[in-house]
Amino acid sequence: MRQGHFDDDHEIFREATRRFFCNEIAPHAEAWRAQGQVDREVYRKAGEQGLLCMFLDPAYGGAGVEDFRYEQIVMEENFRHGDAGLFLHLHSRLVAPYIAVLGTEEQKQRFLPACVRGETILGIAMTETGAGSDLAGMRCRAEDRGDHYLLNGQKTYISNGIIGDLFVVAARTDPTVPRQIGLFLVERGMEGFSRGRRLKKMGLDAQDTAELFFDNVRVPKANVLGDPKRGFYYLMQFLAEERLLGACTYVANAQVAFDITFDFIRERRMFGQTVADFQVNRFKMADMRTELDVAQVFVDTCVRRHNAGQLTADMAARAKLFASEVEGRVLDECVQLHGGAGYMEEYPISRMYRNARVSRIFAGSSEVMREIIARSIGLDPRKKSAGPGGGKAS
Ligand SMILES: Cc1cc2nc3c(=O)[nH]c(=O)nc-3n(C[C@H](O)[C@H](O)[C@H](O)COP(=O)(O)OP(=O)(O)OC[C@H]3O[C@@H](n4cnc5c(N)ncnc54)[C@H](O)[C@@H]3O)c2cc1C
Repeated sequence: MRQGHFDDDHEIFREATRRFFCNEIAPHAEAWRAQGQVDREVYRKAGEQGLLCMFLDPAYGGAGVEDFRYEQIVMEENFRHGDAGLFLHLHSRLVAPYIAVLGTEEQKQRFLPACVRGETILGIAMTETGAGSDLAGMRCRAEDRGDHYLLNGQKTYISNGIIGDLFVVAARTDPTVPRQIGLFLVERGMEGFSRGRRLKKMGLDAQDTAELFFDNVRVPKANVLGDPKRGFYYLMQFLAEERLLGACTYVANAQVAFDITFDFIRERRMFGQTVADFQVNRFKMADMRTELDVAQVFVDTCVRRHNAGQLTADMAARAKLFASEVEGRVLDECVQLHGGAGYMEEYPISRMYRNARVSRIFAGSSEVMREIIARSIGLDPRKKSAGPGGGKAS
């Protein structure tokens, strides 16, 4: 189904990337899951392999590879041979672009080369206890004090929260204007910046999700990203790529689950036949194969649109919505086909099922995606006069 999506150069890159994940990641994954975070060292190794921030200009240490398909390959190989809790894509393609696109030349020179080498690990902090889907409810505050901003507040559910060195932090710059938000680069070691506990989660065991605290942190003006009044707009702008990244990983996870289950049901015997011999189970596999193909084709189309600079926010929302919902259905069915073994930690399908549950929640929940999509087809209660023609194919 993916014919034509990748060419020979991509396949050569995939082979090398696969070897990296098999040799450098897989042997450590169990230990990382037990300790609740990956070792920082893995980012350095990924940097040496040239897998971090590939899109960046060589002037900042990158490879200048804008083609998103290479990033897609890294994510797919990580989900097949590495560990879902290793968020290289968050570092490389979710956070680094904020600095690359919004940063001044000085900021780019100061921060990006170490991100490419994996010496600086990135995170992004938007969510607060009272502000997840509704970012306008944010309370974190950055006060202009002349040569610096004074940052106060706290964030929660922040990926790479423990191992991260540099965070893009969203905070209100005018408490009287609900959507006036600025983006600030907060560095490890800044006075008043601390991390809370590593949060215990249902899945993604090797991912260090944490709370962050800002207590009178003096953020120099040299660490402000872009216009401190336009942060809300910037977040919306970058969320499309974030959702595409997510969609790639959800289909990848579901595809691996399908393959594992395919092998399992052909081995497992009962009533004189294998689980795969029951028509009901063959039909389940047929349904899953179909859903996965449809999801993959749509996600690949979005990747190519993104390469062409044509990925819209609502298209990314559709990719995220569909891929995460397919992943949820596939993983649930795959656990069922494993029987009791599917509930046992020693079988990877059990862990993959736990990992998958968050896909419908983070980076914008399925309900938020539906809201974006509904508005994009002209069903926007805020604009009662929406004319005919909404809902047409894009
Ligand atoms: C493992 C993990 C990692 C994360 N990493 C990060 C990170 O690195 N940085 C970061 O900033 N955040 C991160 N998050 C936060 C994540 O993006 C939020 O959890 C998510 O956006 C949902 O927000 P919330 O948790 O406040 O849920 P809420 O917004 O409180 O949602 C509660 C319910 O309301 C529903 N809802 C919301 N809006 C609507 C609507 N318009 N219509 C109908 N229903 C609606 C939701 O779908 C959900 O079912 C992470 C979360 C998790 C679980």
